[in-house]
Amino acid sequence: MSMPESNNYDVVIIGGGPAGLTAGLYAARSRLNSLLIEKGLVGGQIANAEVVENFPGFPDGVGGIEIGDLIHKQATKYGLKTTTAEVTSLEIKDGGKTVNTTEGNFGARAIIIAGGSQWQKLGVPGEEEFTGKGISYCATCDAPFFTGQSVAVVGGGDAAITEAMYLTKFAARVTVIHRRDQLRATRILQERAFAESKIEFLWDTTVDAVEGEDFVSKLKLNNVKTGGKSTLEVNGVFIAIGFKPDTGYLRGIVPMDAAGHVVTNEKMETDIPGVYAAGDIRSNSGRQAITAAGDGATAAIYAEKYLSEQ
Ligand SMILES: Cc1cc2nc3c(=O)[nH]c(=O)nc-3n(C[C@H](O)[C@H](O)[C@H](O)COP(=O)(O)OP(=O)(O)OC[C@H]3O[C@@H](n4cnc5c(N)ncnc54)[C@H](O)[C@@H]3O)c2cc1C
Repeated sequence: MSMPESNNYDVVIIGGGPAGLTAGLYAARSRLNSLLIEKGLVGGQIANAEVVENFPGFPDGVGGIEIGDLIHKQATKYGLKTTTAEVTSLEIKDGGKTVNTTEGNFGARAIIIAGGSQWQKLGVPGEEEFTGKGISYCATCDAPFFTGQSVAVVGGGDAAITEAMYLTKFAARVTVIHRRDQLRATRILQERAFAESKIEFLWDTTVDAVEGEDFVSKLKLNNVKTGGKSTLEVNGVFIAIGFKPDTGYLRGIVPMDAAGHVVTNEKMETDIPGVYAAGDIRSNSGRQAITAAGDGATAAIYAEKYLSEQ
Protein backbone atom coordinates (compact mmCIF):
# COMPACT_ATOMS: atom_id res chain seq x y z
CA MET A 1 0.00 0.00 0.00
CA SER A 2 1.23 3.52 -0.78
CA MET A 3 1.32 5.46 2.45
CA PRO A 4 -0.02 9.02 2.79
CA GLU A 5 2.63 11.72 2.50
CA SER A 6 0.61 14.51 4.10
CA ASN A 7 -2.58 14.79 6.09
CA ASN A 8 -4.51 16.96 3.64
CA TYR A 9 -6.20 15.73 0.48
CA ASP A 10 -8.55 16.95 -2.19
CA VAL A 11 -10.59 13.76 -1.85
CA VAL A 12 -10.64 11.19 0.94
CA ILE A 13 -12.42 7.94 0.09
CA ILE A 14 -13.67 5.67 2.86
CA GLY A 15 -13.63 1.99 1.87
CA GLY A 16 -11.69 -0.06 -0.64
CA GLY A 17 -14.41 -2.16 -2.30
CA PRO A 18 -15.43 -1.75 -5.97
CA ALA A 19 -17.12 1.62 -5.20
CA GLY A 20 -14.21 3.17 -3.31
CA LEU A 21 -11.55 1.80 -5.65
CA THR A 22 -13.35 3.09 -8.74
CA ALA A 23 -13.90 6.47 -7.08
CA GLY A 24 -10.17 6.46 -6.37
CA LEU A 25 -9.34 5.66 -9.98
CA TYR A 26 -11.50 8.50 -11.30
CA ALA A 27 -10.39 11.02 -8.66
CA ALA A 28 -6.68 10.26 -9.05
CA ARG A 29 -6.91 10.30 -12.84
CA SER A 30 -8.55 13.76 -12.58
CA ARG A 31 -5.31 14.86 -10.89
CA LEU A 32 -6.98 15.23 -7.52
CA ASN A 33 -4.75 14.47 -4.55
CA SER A 34 -6.67 11.42 -3.35
CA LEU A 35 -6.45 9.08 -0.37
CA LEU A 36 -8.33 5.82 0.05
CA ILE A 37 -8.73 4.54 3.61
CA GLU A 38 -9.49 0.82 4.05
CA LYS A 39 -9.72 -0.93 7.40
CA GLY A 40 -9.00 -4.41 6.02
CA LEU A 41 -7.70 -5.69 2.71
CA VAL A 42 -8.67 -3.78 -0.43
CA GLY A 43 -11.31 -5.55 -2.50
CA GLY A 44 -14.40 -5.42 -0.29
CA GLN A 45 -17.15 -8.04 -0.29
CA ILE A 46 -16.56 -9.16 -3.85
CA ALA A 47 -13.33 -10.76 -2.64
CA ASN A 48 -15.63 -13.44 -1.13
CA ALA A 49 -16.86 -14.50 -4.57
CA GLU A 50 -14.72 -17.24 -6.08
CA VAL A 51 -15.73 -16.39 -9.64
CA VAL A 52 -17.71 -13.35 -10.80
CA GLU A 53 -19.53 -13.93 -14.05
CA ASN A 54 -21.33 -10.60 -14.42
CA PHE A 55 -18.54 -8.06 -14.17
CA PRO A 56 -18.32 -6.63 -17.72
CA GLY A 57 -15.18 -7.27 -19.72
CA PHE A 58 -14.53 -10.81 -18.47
CA PRO A 59 -16.40 -13.25 -20.75
CA ASP A 60 -14.92 -16.24 -18.90
CA GLY A 61 -15.53 -14.79 -15.44
CA VAL A 62 -13.02 -13.22 -13.08
CA GLY A 63 -11.96 -14.02 -9.52
CA GLY A 64 -13.56 -11.76 -6.91
CA ILE A 65 -10.16 -11.02 -5.37
CA GLU A 66 -8.77 -10.19 -8.82
CA ILE A 67 -11.40 -7.46 -9.39
CA GLY A 68 -10.21 -5.50 -6.35
CA ASP A 69 -6.53 -6.09 -7.12
CA LEU A 70 -6.91 -4.93 -10.73
CA ILE A 71 -8.84 -1.74 -9.95
CA HIS A 72 -6.45 -0.92 -7.10
CA LYS A 73 -3.44 -1.38 -9.39
CA GLN A 74 -5.08 0.81 -12.05
CA ALA A 75 -5.93 3.57 -9.53
CA THR A 76 -2.49 3.46 -7.91
CA LYS A 77 -0.93 3.90 -11.36
CA TYR A 78 -2.68 7.30 -11.57
CA GLY A 79 -1.56 8.36 -8.10
CA LEU A 80 -4.19 7.12 -5.64
CA LYS A 81 -2.70 6.72 -2.17
CA THR A 82 -4.03 4.00 0.10
CA THR A 83 -3.73 3.54 3.80
CA THR A 84 -4.91 0.94 6.28
CA ALA A 85 -7.04 2.44 9.07
CA GLU A 86 -10.61 2.43 10.30
CA VAL A 87 -12.56 5.64 9.93
CA THR A 88 -14.16 6.38 13.29
CA SER A 89 -15.84 9.76 12.72
CA LEU A 90 -16.19 12.74 10.40
CA GLU A 91 -16.05 16.38 11.41
CA ILE A 92 -17.74 18.87 9.12
CA LYS A 93 -17.30 22.46 10.36
CA ASP A 94 -17.82 25.65 8.35
CA GLY A 95 -17.09 23.79 5.16
CA GLY A 96 -13.89 22.21 6.59
CA LYS A 97 -13.88 18.44 6.60
CA THR A 98 -11.82 16.05 8.72
CA VAL A 99 -11.82 12.27 8.52
CA ASN A 100 -10.79 10.80 11.88
CA THR A 101 -9.30 7.31 11.87
CA THR A 102 -7.58 4.85 14.17
CA GLU A 103 -4.27 5.92 12.58
CA GLY A 104 -4.68 9.71 12.64
CA ASN A 105 -6.83 12.44 11.12
CA PHE A 106 -6.99 13.53 7.48
CA GLY A 107 -8.20 16.85 6.10
CA ALA A 108 -10.39 16.59 2.99
CA ARG A 109 -11.95 19.06 0.58
CA ALA A 110 -14.39 16.33 -0.49
CA ILE A 111 -15.28 12.96 1.05
CA ILE A 112 -16.62 9.86 -0.72
CA ILE A 113 -18.17 7.35 1.68
CA ALA A 114 -17.93 3.83 0.21
CA GLY A 115 -17.88 1.64 3.30
CA GLY A 116 -20.23 -1.07 1.98
CA SER A 117 -22.07 -3.39 4.34
CA GLN A 118 -21.45 -6.00 7.00
CA TRP A 119 -22.91 -9.49 7.25
CA GLN A 120 -26.33 -9.43 8.89
CA LYS A 121 -26.58 -11.65 11.97
CA LEU A 122 -29.52 -14.00 12.62
CA GLY A 123 -29.74 -12.85 16.24
CA VAL A 124 -30.69 -16.27 17.62
CA PRO A 125 -29.40 -18.23 20.62
CA GLY A 126 -26.16 -20.05 19.80
CA GLU A 127 -25.06 -17.67 17.04
CA GLU A 128 -22.34 -15.93 19.05
CA GLU A 129 -21.23 -19.14 20.76
CA PHE A 130 -20.83 -21.16 17.56
CA THR A 131 -19.44 -18.51 15.22
CA GLY A 132 -16.22 -20.07 13.97
CA LYS A 133 -17.34 -23.40 15.45
CA GLY A 134 -19.68 -24.42 12.67
CA ILE A 135 -21.29 -21.04 11.93
CA SER A 136 -19.78 -19.12 9.04
CA TYR A 137 -20.68 -16.06 6.97
CA CYS A 138 -18.31 -16.91 4.11
CA ALA A 139 -18.42 -20.14 2.12
CA THR A 140 -15.37 -19.22 0.06
CA CYS A 141 -13.41 -18.95 3.31
CA ASP A 142 -14.76 -21.97 5.19
CA ALA A 143 -16.39 -24.48 2.79
CA PRO A 144 -13.40 -26.89 2.69
CA PHE A 145 -13.82 -27.50 6.44
CA PHE A 146 -17.14 -29.19 5.66
CA THR A 147 -15.98 -31.67 3.03
CA GLY A 148 -18.33 -34.67 2.91
CA GLN A 149 -20.58 -33.17 5.62
CA SER A 150 -24.10 -31.72 5.86
CA VAL A 151 -24.48 -27.98 5.94
CA ALA A 152 -27.32 -25.47 5.86
CA VAL A 153 -27.43 -22.07 4.20
CA VAL A 154 -29.83 -19.52 5.64
CA GLY A 155 -31.18 -16.99 3.12
CA GLY A 156 -32.73 -16.79 -0.32
CA GLY A 157 -30.95 -14.00 -2.20
CA ASP A 158 -27.98 -13.96 -4.58
CA ALA A 159 -25.41 -14.25 -1.82
CA ALA A 160 -27.18 -17.26 -0.22
CA ILE A 161 -27.52 -19.15 -3.48
CA THR A 162 -23.95 -18.33 -4.52
CA GLU A 163 -22.81 -19.69 -1.16
CA ALA A 164 -24.97 -22.81 -1.53
CA MET A 165 -23.64 -23.55 -5.03
CA TYR A 166 -20.06 -23.12 -3.87
CA LEU A 167 -20.66 -25.42 -0.90
CA THR A 168 -21.82 -28.26 -3.19
CA LYS A 169 -18.18 -28.63 -4.26
CA PHE A 170 -17.33 -29.77 -0.74
CA ALA A 171 -20.37 -30.75 1.33
CA ALA A 172 -22.37 -33.95 0.81
CA ARG A 173 -25.70 -32.15 1.39
CA VAL A 174 -26.66 -28.49 1.39
CA THR A 175 -30.03 -27.44 2.82
CA VAL A 176 -31.16 -23.93 1.94
CA ILE A 177 -33.44 -22.56 4.66
CA HIS A 178 -35.57 -19.65 3.50
CA ARG A 179 -38.29 -17.78 5.35
CA ARG A 180 -40.36 -17.28 2.20
CA ASP A 181 -41.85 -19.75 -0.31
CA GLN A 182 -39.66 -18.57 -3.18
CA LEU A 183 -36.12 -17.33 -3.67
CA ARG A 184 -35.13 -13.70 -4.23
CA ALA A 185 -31.95 -14.68 -6.10
CA THR A 186 -31.61 -13.87 -9.80
CA ARG A 187 -33.31 -16.35 -12.15
CA ILE A 188 -30.10 -17.89 -13.52
CA LEU A 189 -28.81 -18.64 -10.01
CA GLN A 190 -32.18 -20.14 -9.07
CA GLU A 191 -32.14 -22.41 -12.12
CA ARG A 192 -28.67 -23.67 -11.25
CA ALA A 193 -29.60 -24.27 -7.62
CA PHE A 194 -32.80 -26.16 -8.52
CA ALA A 195 -30.80 -28.33 -10.95
CA GLU A 196 -28.16 -29.19 -8.33
CA SER A 197 -28.95 -32.56 -6.76
CA LYS A 198 -26.99 -31.86 -3.56
CA ILE A 199 -29.18 -28.85 -2.71
CA GLU A 200 -32.53 -29.19 -0.99
CA PHE A 201 -34.83 -26.42 0.18
CA LEU A 202 -36.77 -25.82 3.37
CA TRP A 203 -39.35 -23.15 2.56
CA ASP A 204 -41.22 -20.84 4.95
CA THR A 205 -38.71 -21.72 7.62
CA THR A 206 -36.68 -19.70 10.12
CA VAL A 207 -33.95 -20.72 12.53
CA ASP A 208 -34.91 -20.48 16.21
CA ALA A 209 -31.57 -21.58 17.63
CA VAL A 210 -28.21 -23.12 16.77
CA GLU A 211 -27.21 -25.97 19.07
CA GLY A 212 -24.33 -28.34 19.64
CA GLU A 213 -21.60 -29.18 22.13
CA ASP A 214 -18.14 -28.02 21.06
CA PHE A 215 -19.33 -27.58 17.48
CA VAL A 216 -22.69 -27.03 15.73
CA SER A 217 -24.71 -30.25 15.49
CA LYS A 218 -28.31 -29.12 14.94
CA LEU A 219 -30.63 -26.27 14.10
CA LYS A 220 -33.98 -25.71 15.78
CA LEU A 221 -36.42 -24.63 13.07
CA ASN A 222 -39.79 -22.94 12.90
CA ASN A 223 -42.28 -23.11 10.05
CA VAL A 224 -43.61 -19.55 9.76
CA LYS A 225 -46.88 -20.69 8.13
CA THR A 226 -47.83 -23.63 10.37
CA GLY A 227 -45.88 -22.74 13.52
CA GLY A 228 -44.51 -26.32 13.42
CA LYS A 229 -41.16 -26.92 15.12
CA SER A 230 -38.46 -29.27 13.80
CA THR A 231 -34.78 -30.09 14.14
CA LEU A 232 -32.22 -30.32 11.35
CA GLU A 233 -28.97 -32.15 12.02
CA VAL A 234 -26.06 -30.33 10.37
CA ASN A 235 -22.31 -29.98 10.79
CA GLY A 236 -22.30 -26.35 9.78
CA VAL A 237 -24.46 -23.38 8.90
CA PHE A 238 -23.68 -20.53 6.54
CA ILE A 239 -25.68 -17.37 7.20
CA ALA A 240 -26.34 -15.22 4.14
CA ILE A 241 -29.36 -13.08 4.99
CA GLY A 242 -28.02 -9.76 3.84
CA PHE A 243 -25.85 -6.98 5.02
CA LYS A 244 -26.06 -4.13 7.47
CA PRO A 245 -24.56 -0.88 6.21
CA ASP A 246 -21.43 0.16 8.04
CA THR A 247 -22.78 3.58 9.02
CA GLY A 248 -22.67 3.76 12.82
CA TYR A 249 -19.97 6.43 12.73
CA LEU A 250 -22.03 8.58 10.33
CA ARG A 251 -25.14 8.82 12.50
CA GLY A 252 -26.22 12.43 12.93
CA ILE A 253 -23.82 13.59 10.21
CA VAL A 254 -25.39 12.45 6.92
CA PRO A 255 -29.04 11.52 6.35
CA MET A 256 -29.85 7.81 6.29
CA ASP A 257 -32.88 5.67 5.50
CA ALA A 258 -34.62 3.47 8.07
CA ALA A 259 -32.16 0.60 7.46
CA GLY A 260 -29.15 2.88 7.96
CA HIS A 261 -28.14 3.32 4.31
CA VAL A 262 -26.88 6.77 3.32
CA VAL A 263 -29.36 8.77 1.26
CA THR A 264 -27.97 10.35 -1.94
CA ASN A 265 -29.30 11.89 -5.11
CA GLU A 266 -28.39 10.57 -8.57
CA LYS A 267 -25.06 12.45 -8.40
CA MET A 268 -24.20 10.46 -5.24
CA GLU A 269 -24.39 13.73 -3.29
CA THR A 270 -25.54 13.63 0.34
CA ASP A 271 -27.12 16.82 1.61
CA ILE A 272 -23.71 18.04 2.85
CA PRO A 273 -21.85 19.85 0.05
CA GLY A 274 -18.73 17.92 -0.92
CA VAL A 275 -19.78 14.69 0.84
CA TYR A 276 -20.79 11.78 -1.40
CA ALA A 277 -21.77 8.13 -0.85
CA ALA A 278 -21.30 5.28 -3.31
CA GLY A 279 -21.97 1.54 -3.56
CA ASP A 280 -23.76 -0.80 -1.16
CA ILE A 281 -23.67 1.75 1.66
CA ARG A 282 -26.14 4.02 -0.07
CA SER A 283 -29.90 3.75 -0.17
CA ASN A 284 -31.29 1.95 -3.25
CA SER A 285 -27.91 0.71 -4.43
CA GLY A 286 -27.93 -2.13 -6.97
CA ARG A 287 -25.81 -4.25 -4.54
CA GLN A 288 -23.55 -5.51 -7.30
CA ALA A 289 -19.87 -4.97 -7.94
CA ILE A 290 -20.52 -3.14 -11.20
CA THR A 291 -23.23 -0.87 -9.79
CA ALA A 292 -20.94 -0.05 -6.86
CA ALA A 293 -18.14 0.74 -9.32
CA GLY A 294 -20.55 2.93 -11.33
CA ASP A 295 -21.59 4.78 -8.18
CA GLY A 296 -17.93 5.33 -7.33
CA ALA A 297 -17.21 6.79 -10.75
CA THR A 298 -20.27 9.07 -10.51
CA ALA A 299 -19.30 10.28 -7.03
CA ALA A 300 -15.74 11.10 -8.15
CA ILE A 301 -16.96 12.94 -11.28
CA TYR A 302 -19.27 15.18 -9.21
CA ALA A 303 -16.65 15.63 -6.48
CA GLU A 304 -14.24 16.88 -9.15
CA LYS A 305 -16.89 19.34 -10.43
CA TYR A 306 -17.60 20.52 -6.88
CA LEU A 307 -13.90 21.11 -6.17
CA SER A 308 -13.29 22.92 -9.45
CA GLU A 309 -16.10 25.35 -8.55
CA GLN A 310 -14.69 26.10 -5.08
C1 LIG B 1 -20.44 -14.17 -1.55
C2 LIG B 1 -20.76 -12.98 -2.41
C3 LIG B 1 -20.89 -13.12 -3.76
C4 LIG B 1 -21.16 -12.02 -4.57
N1 LIG B 1 -21.24 -12.21 -5.91
C5 LIG B 1 -21.38 -11.13 -6.71
C6 LIG B 1 -21.36 -11.30 -8.13
O1 LIG B 1 -21.25 -12.42 -8.65
N2 LIG B 1 -21.49 -10.19 -8.89
C7 LIG B 1 -21.62 -8.95 -8.35
O2 LIG B 1 -21.69 -7.98 -9.10
N3 LIG B 1 -21.66 -8.76 -7.02
C8 LIG B 1 -21.55 -9.82 -6.19
N4 LIG B 1 -21.58 -9.65 -4.83
C9 LIG B 1 -21.90 -8.31 -4.29
C10 LIG B 1 -20.70 -7.34 -4.35
O3 LIG B 1 -19.59 -7.96 -3.72
C11 LIG B 1 -21.03 -6.02 -3.66
O4 LIG B 1 -22.19 -5.47 -4.21
C12 LIG B 1 -19.89 -5.01 -3.80
O5 LIG B 1 -18.69 -5.54 -3.28
C13 LIG B 1 -20.22 -3.70 -3.08
O6 LIG B 1 -19.12 -2.86 -3.22
P1 LIG B 1 -18.87 -1.61 -2.24
O7 LIG B 1 -17.56 -1.02 -2.67
O8 LIG B 1 -20.04 -0.75 -2.19
O9 LIG B 1 -18.75 -2.21 -0.78
P2 LIG B 1 -17.85 -3.36 -0.17
O10 LIG B 1 -17.44 -4.32 -1.21
O11 LIG B 1 -18.60 -3.87 1.01
O12 LIG B 1 -16.54 -2.60 0.32
C14 LIG B 1 -16.55 -1.68 1.39
C15 LIG B 1 -15.18 -1.60 2.02
O13 LIG B 1 -15.17 -0.54 2.96
C16 LIG B 1 -14.42 -0.93 4.10
N5 LIG B 1 -14.90 -0.13 5.24
C17 LIG B 1 -16.14 -0.12 5.78
N6 LIG B 1 -16.22 0.77 6.80
C18 LIG B 1 -14.99 1.30 6.93
C19 LIG B 1 -14.42 2.25 7.83
N7 LIG B 1 -15.15 2.82 8.81
N8 LIG B 1 -13.11 2.59 7.69
C20 LIG B 1 -12.37 2.02 6.69
N9 LIG B 1 -12.85 1.09 5.82
C21 LIG B 1 -14.14 0.75 5.93
C22 LIG B 1 -14.73 -2.42 4.24
O14 LIG B 1 -13.68 -3.08 4.96
C23 LIG B 1 -14.82 -2.87 2.78
O15 LIG B 1 -13.57 -3.35 2.30
C24 LIG B 1 -21.33 -10.73 -3.99
C25 LIG B 1 -21.20 -10.57 -2.61
C26 LIG B 1 -20.92 -11.69 -1.81
C27 LIG B 1 -20.77 -11.49 -0.34
